[in-house]
Amino acid sequence: MKRVLITGAAGFLGSHLCDRFIKEGFHVIGMDNLITGSLSNIEHLFKLEHFEFHHHDVTTFVHVPGELDYILHFASPASPIDYLKIPIQTLKVGSLGTHNLLGLAKVKNARILIASTSEVYGDPLVHPQDEEYYGNVNTIGPRGVYDEAKRFQESITMAYHRFHGLETRIVRIFNTYGPRMRLNDGRVIPAFMGQALRGEDLTVFGDGLQTRSFCYVDDQVEGIYRLLMSDYVFPVNIGNPDEITIKDFAEEIIKLTGTDQKVIYKDLPVDDPMQRKPDITKAKEILDWTATVGRAEGMKKTFEYFKNLTQEELYKSEHKDFSKHIRK
Ligand code: NAD
Ligand code: UDP
Repeated sequence: MKRVLITGAAGFLGSHLCDRFIKEGFHVIGMDNLITGSLSNIEHLFKLEHFEFHHHDVTTFVHVPGELDYILHFASPASPIDYLKIPIQTLKVGSLGTHNLLGLAKVKNARILIASTSEVYGDPLVHPQDEEYYGNVNTIGPRGVYDEAKRFQESITMAYHRFHGLETRIVRIFNTYGPRMRLNDGRVIPAFMGQALRGEDLTVFGDGLQTRSFCYVDDQVEGIYRLLMSDYVFPVNIGNPDEITIKDFAEEIIKLTGTDQKVIYKDLPVDDPMQRKPDITKAKEILDWTATVGRAEGMKKTFEYFKNLTQEELYKSEHKDFSKHIRK
């Protein structure tokens, strides 16, 4: 039986990846320090013989007994609110954490895939973004802690590949959504759906003319799985190229949720990218992958998930309290 280590397992993408690898017949070792994730995302796996969970912070030495065939490194705060709140942990998990996992992959002779992001392109001057674009990142801006950690992560991964001959894969993930996103993580989809469910107005930042392209989680997981199993070592964009302005997206959510909320406008966060859309030519050619779930279908499934949350979850304190996880 093949063995896979998934970091960030209690998070949104990590938990869906655990489900996929269990389905594929792997022994899955999930690892997480629960700083932004929740055990409720994986509690359905605890009863399985071939799932184990390690509560561990990957910025400290990572030890996993036994053999490993694959490692997927998904641990990292991922929403702008989270990484602005825990900037140093964000830098550490992308740098020290990635270094630890590359070291582990080397001793275990495992193939490692790291979760990079469209944020490596920063506020892009090229549209749509293809993998050859070097990006436009403000290193010292508030988002720099995430963007530069991810750029370093790609560099050290390529260095381990070139210097040690390690088998490495890099996925550049564009905005992905679906069930198990944290309602209060500040990302636009849970934000709008939570507001609609609580009967609050939808907060559009800036003039709402900035664009994003949203990918449903099942498509994302399929792309990641195909990339891991491929022999391609350079970064591959995985995302849905169907682009929309945030303003139009807010109107779509109001229609979908059947509420009569208004849109209200708030300040645009610093360095918020003005346009984002993946060029997925590489994913199509190399992985024979394309996004298959349209926004209407994906948003409907996601809304069903949020609708089923309890009143307590819906009104839970604004943002998760990270303080107990932070070593002084
Ligand atoms: P998430 O916050 O739901 O999951 C991240 C998980 O990592 C959480 O469970 C958290 O507790 C864990 N974690 C953070 N620091 C850790 C540490 N030091 N040690 C162990 N565990 C730690 O976020 P997500 O959306 O599932 O993102 C997962 C990965 O995908 C991240 O690396 C993120 O950068 C990347 N990504 C996601 C998106 C997206 O749209 N969802 C887009 C681009 C990149
Ligand atoms: N956004 C918004 N209202 C919100 C939350 C986000 O208008 O309540 C905007 C945000 O400014 C950005 C886009 O929605 O332009 C996507 O934001 P998100 O935090 O989901 O991810 P990003 O793509 O910026 O990392």
